Amino acid sequence: MTAITIDGKAVSQKIKEQVEERVKSLKEQGVAPGLAVVLVGENSASLTYVKNKKKTCEALGMRSDLHQYPEDLSEEELLAKIEELNNDPEIHGILVQLPLPEHIDEFKVILAIDPSKDVDGFHPISVGNMVIGKEAFLPCTPHGIMKLLEHYGIDPAGKHAVVVGRSNIVGKPVGQLLLQKDATVTFCHSKTQDLASYTRQADILIAAIGRAKFIGADHVKPGAAVIDVGMNRDENGKLCGDVDFAAVQETAGYLTPVPGGVGPMTIAMLMENTLHSAENGLQKDKNA
Ligand code: NDP
Repeated sequence: MTAITIDGKAVSQKIKEQVEERVKSLKEQGVAPGLAVVLVGENSASLTYVKNKKKTCEALGMRSDLHQYPEDLSEEELLAKIEELNNDPEIHGILVQLPLPEHIDEFKVILAIDPSKDVDGFHPISVGNMVIGKEAFLPCTPHGIMKLLEHYGIDPAGKHAVVVGRSNIVGKPVGQLLLQKDATVTFCHSKTQDLASYTRQADILIAAIGRAKFIGADHVKPGAAVIDVGMNRDENGKLCGDVDFAAVQETAGYLTPVPGGVGPMTIAMLMENTLHSAENGLQKDKNA
């Protein structure tokens, strides 16, 4: 059996087309969705990510402001900038690119973002609302994974979903979203003993580990849907996931490639969250 390749590029393209349409309609009503991206320091991966986000925003007709600061920006100055963006009616989404330099308290910065503009979905209010199933900005990568499953007709209800990784941005939230869709969820991490004994039970396996080609065919139940979140470099410096694609392809039922799987979905969901925030703002104005 060869797995069906889950085409994140194609699915994200569809989502972006829908966003573009909705942006047009919002603009006709006098609202131009705006995303502010804040970058501190010189991290080259972060710079690539923020440039991509800005480019995608603009391609979809949304405004995007990049606020770029040197490494030695003080925490106070950053918090003041966030306050300014919180109060700017033309900005609907605020994204502070992580990681921040060590002298800045990341949690303090996330807390400072107005939850109604928290398009990354990292604010504790967003996280809390997500966990109790209330309206919230969902974190982009986990939300993108759920959209991929939905698009391919993979219903988590009654399935055993095993999530390898428990970070606040991927592992924990994707497990929560799978639980909300009635999966039975198991979380694994670096202290899990005999990892393969868990992953082999998975109907849906999410790999969010950060280790190149760590998940092999012997970790996978035949026919399982395997979602590879990892973005790593292999021994030749080539981009690769946490899953050994060539090996697992022969066992899995569905498999996401890297690149072209989860990655493009993350950015599409950020666009959708920003648009959604602008739509919420308009609705509030209409109700006022
Ligand atoms: P973190 O480093 O924050 O978390 C990694 C998780 O993997 C931890 O929970 C860790 O366990 C677990 N882990 C590490 N080693 C093992 C092991 N040997 N066995 C089992 N579990 C292990 O990473 P992120 O969640 O931020 O990201 C994971 C990967 O996804 C990275 O490659 C990252 O680049 C990529 N990524 C991709 C995105 C996309 O858009 N495609 C977006 C975000 C991330 P413990 O908690 O015990 O330390």
